[in-house]
Amino acid sequence: MELEKRRLKREFLTMTKMVGMYCVRFHNGARDKLCDECEEFLGYAQRRLAKCPYEEKKPTCTNCPIHCYKKAQKQRASEIMRYAGPRMLTRHPYLAITHILDGFRKAPPPMEQRQLKKQRQPKEKIQE
Ligand code: SF4
Ligand SMILES: [Zn+2]
Repeated sequence: MELEKRRLKREFLTMTKMVGMYCVRFHNGARDKLCDECEEFLGYAQRRLAKCPYEEKKPTCTNCPIHCYKKAQKQRASEIMRYAGPRMLTRHPYLAITHILDGFRKAPPPMEQRQLKKQRQPKEKIQE
């Protein structure tokens, strides 16, 4: 699945790095190969990102009023963040700093955002 928007691609890259660090530490995963459980979690996160209505204006999921993750995956995401979040600053500083900056972005209420997305869609299709 290819994510179209730059913001979503960056988010996925950040998520991939964090899941990788978590998997190496807790599941004896290899740096270039996740265990099945983490692979499945990352696939889930990618599908959620592909449907994220905020697109380029995506806030951090922690600050999102929608919270589209199911309970179990949300819990796993928190565990991953707790372990990998503080380590990102030294290992992937660019991704860590941009994620901190994303945390300052205010997310519009979900209904408002969905309406904006609907209004934008026909224009984007015409431009293609
Ligand atoms: S939790 Fe919110 S910001 Fe995160 S992917 Fe879902 S809708 Fe987008
Ligand atoms: Zn794993």
